[in-house]
Amino acid sequence: MKATIVGAGPIGTLSAIALARKGFEVEIVDRDPGPQSDESWRRRGVMQFHHPHVFRKRVHGFLADTAPDVWDSLIAAGCIAAPMSGADEPTVALQSRRETFERVLRTALVGEPDVTLLIGHVDDVVVSDARLRGVMVDGELRPADVAIVAAGRGSHLGDALRPAGELSHCGTSYVSRMYRALPGVHVPVSPFPLATRGPGYLAAMFPQDDDILTLLILRPCDDDAYVPLRTAAVFDRVAAAIPALAPWSDPTRFEPIAAPLPGPELTNSYRRQAVWDGVVSAPGVFFVGDSVLATNPSGGRGISTGVVQIAELVRILGQQDLDLAAAVLQFEAFCERAMKPWFDDHVDTDASFLRAVTGGEIDPDASISSDVVVAALDEVPGMDAAAFAYLNMDVLPTALDPFREDVRAALRSGWRPRAGSGPTRDELDRLIRSTASA
Ligand SMILES: Cc1cc2nc3c(=O)[nH]c(=O)nc-3n(C[C@H](O)[C@H](O)[C@H](O)COP(=O)(O)OP(=O)(O)OC[C@H]3O[C@@H](n4cnc5c(N)ncnc54)[C@H](O)[C@@H]3O)c2cc1C
Repeated sequence: MKATIVGAGPIGTLSAIALARKGFEVEIVDRDPGPQSDESWRRRGVMQFHHPHVFRKRVHGFLADTAPDVWDSLIAAGCIAAPMSGADEPTVALQSRRETFERVLRTALVGEPDVTLLIGHVDDVVVSDARLRGVMVDGELRPADVAIVAAGRGSHLGDALRPAGELSHCGTSYVSRMYRALPGVHVPVSPFPLATRGPGYLAAMFPQDDDILTLLILRPCDDDAYVPLRTAAVFDRVAAAIPALAPWSDPTRFEPIAAPLPGPELTNSYRRQAVWDGVVSAPGVFFVGDSVLATNPSGGRGISTGVVQIAELVRILGQQDLDLAAAVLQFEAFCERAMKPWFDDHVDTDASFLRAVTGGEIDPDASISSDVVVAALDEVPGMDAAAFAYLNMDVLPTALDPFREDVRAALRSGWRPRAGSGPTRDELDRLIRSTASA
């Protein structure tokens, strides 16, 4: 059976490798030609390529099951397996720049037998008489039995085949800047970013590979006071003023190796498969990765939700006597059950975060979002296992439900999640103005 995959980002690439290893003939198409002979890689259209990343435990689990050689190659390339204690099972997150991760994946893809990589633009997924004919690449039809669309969060490919999705604006955006440790200094091994919610913003340090780290300031996107953060002098002054960032931007220990990189307004989106009122309009066409679920990047969940989808899709496609319409329905049901809850959870937690950084109060009588539940770890006995499992994405956010009422009770008795220390938004505003006008 021939599967054609649109998009050789992380999820398309790992889908291709996983399916080829299950005996599929795989063709994968991407408009991006990949790294050039001088090793440069512009990665046009994938703005997150230079933003900080964390690869949660699910990524390790998927690679350990499906492609342990790719995990080994990541480690050989300098990515760091970062263990975390405290959970029942050891957590192994991957500490790496996105660029390092994608370069290793691209090399693995090119070297994978039974996978053909085609460079070209996919114009359409062609379905007629409720049958997949193939994908149109630069005007030429490439026949396929199965088409997997892994074209990312911004793509409209196949929109006509499926219902409109849900989109929620997080109300935040961020600026990041990459630094390298000076000789004799090392970036710590840490499975998750070291993050502090300040009064008016979130500040985080992402340890990456090769003694590189990225600092990130997440802020309300409609607050113009933060706009000048995109200039190097302002970013550096602000980083030096925030206690959570100051040690990592100290010029005696770390040097900036890139300009501050602003990102767009962050969003969450969820889009369904080609199913209308229970009827499959495009048997054999599957949407995966960010084409299904794109969550607020600051949660670092995108690649994890993507690999969870791949594992299920490969299982479905590996069934005996495969019925392609039934397979779409199965995958749709899985996404509704296992992906949509992450969208809903992000909508709630993002609203909670925005309220917190804009000085709003938590209403103990309203629904209690997961970020507030997890922040109450020390207040509510017996929550550790569920909280760690949620953070590792071993369980769905509903695993926190048994604790929400206890957290409500804590809120009613006066407990509140603590903000970290640091300058207020108004103090930063003054600092930014004075630096920008200097
Ligand atoms: C700023 C930012 C930071 C993030 N940080 C994290 C993080 O720390 N951890 C994490 O797990 N996730 C993170 N994410 C989410 C993560 O980047 C995505 O979940 C991931 O990129 C999804 O992979 P994908 O393969 O589905 O799509 P993409 O990575 O977007 O890849 C899509 C591919 O499809 C190709 N393509 C698109 N259209 C066509 C076409 N018509 N023809 C041919 N090729 C096409 C593109 O060239 C691209 O190669 C972040 C996202 C952003 C925006």
